[in-house]
Amino acid sequence: MIIRKSELLITAAKKEQYPETVVPEIAFAGKSNVGKSSMINAMLNRRNLARTSSSPGKTQTINFYNINDQFNFVDLPGYGYAKVSKQEKGKWGGMIETFFKVRNQLKEVVLLVDIRHEPGLNDQQMYEWIRSFNYTGYVIATKADKLSRSQQIKCISAIKKTLNIEDSKLILPLSATSKQGVEDTWCLFEKILGI
Ligand code: GDP
Repeated sequence: MIIRKSELLITAAKKEQYPETVVPEIAFAGKSNVGKSSMINAMLNRRNLARTSSSPGKTQTINFYNINDQFNFVDLPGYGYAKVSKQEKGKWGGMIETFFKVRNQLKEVVLLVDIRHEPGLNDQQMYEWIRSFNYTGYVIATKADKLSRSQQIKCISAIKKTLNIEDSKLILPLSATSKQGVEDTWCLFEKILGI
């Protein structure tokens, strides 16, 4: 994939703020700190387009990125901060649900999990939620550089089991640091986007 252009279109807190673009979209979900921003930056060869190391107090928004005027990446707000209030958590759920429901050009929602850890309860719930909206259920296992190749295989099989995934092809290891998996992930995204 040749990236000619990548820019933040908008950070949306409500549906009225979604961009009016009609290009296909892929959204990314995951626990805070899973490496979502780093993955987006690595895929786009940008250092700091998506903001990394988001702080717990950060406002929860859905961030839309325009790539090549051809498709959008959508960064969903992360979950899993213990300090977030119940009210904030409720808002988070409503915001994501609305997005899944109304966004017709949304082709897939990809879940990111840390390759080293067995997915937690909130990851499992997120995954089920994604599947319940009839998305395929692709998973990117981040921070692959932290493990040897043989450890990666073991951990991927544990993730598969925890998330009840039958098809191994649904899980891709990726490292924003070593760039392992970037090409394979682009192949997948091109397939999803039909480009
Ligand atoms: P986000 O909250 O999901 O957007 O996560 P970030 O992209 O901010 O990453 C959280 C932390 O994990 C940061 O300290 C990153 O430097 C680190 N990180 C993210 N991706 C990788 C990776 O592929 N390899 C390694 N070693 N660290 C990573």
